[in-house]
Amino acid sequence: GKTVGILALQGAFREHERALQKCGAKARQVRTRDELEQVDALIIPGGESTAISRLMQTFQLDEEIIERNRQGMAIWGTCAGMILLAHEIVGIKQPTLGLMNTAVVRNGFGRQADSFEADLDIEGIGSGKGLFIRAPYVQKVWGQANILACFEEKIVMVEEGKLLATAFHPELTANLSIHDYFLQKI
Ligand code: GLN
Repeated sequence: GKTVGILALQGAFREHERALQKCGAKARQVRTRDELEQVDALIIPGGESTAISRLMQTFQLDEEIIERNRQGMAIWGTCAGMILLAHEIVGIKQPTLGLMNTAVVRNGFGRQADSFEADLDIEGIGSGKGLFIRAPYVQKVWGQANILACFEEKIVMVEEGKLLATAFHPELTANLSIHDYFLQKI
């Protein structure tokens, strides 16, 4: 069977691991290039995008993740992971993997909305609740990037081929539909 890796440098990686196991998938934490070689797909979790980015560079995982994606590996980024997959961060010079044709706004919902739950209608998946925690949103997409969900006119879920990005945290709720959706890409 296929194994889904979860980048386990910082953030909510254990929650993704548990959600994948509940879906019946094989999951393993990834911290090194060797561990990355042994997985068939990758989740970049929520957390602190600056910290994850720094650690990815320290362990030389960034260039390897880009190369694996070029070879067809599916990647899903949640929250900080959505930021790291983006081509650019609006107004900030912070390194990203630059794999998706998206521009994201960090902490885009403001301080007053630090954490909130919203009803979402997701293309191809249906309705469900989304948990947002100091979430980014996508300001614009181009090329092959496809918008799957919006909240208050802000783009919160994008798909581009084998890449998926959500501003919210399905791994912190009981809803496994997005994990199931990602597993179909592998
Ligand atoms: N605000 C965080 C960042 O910019 C993301 C928050 C999250 O992943 N829950 O990295």
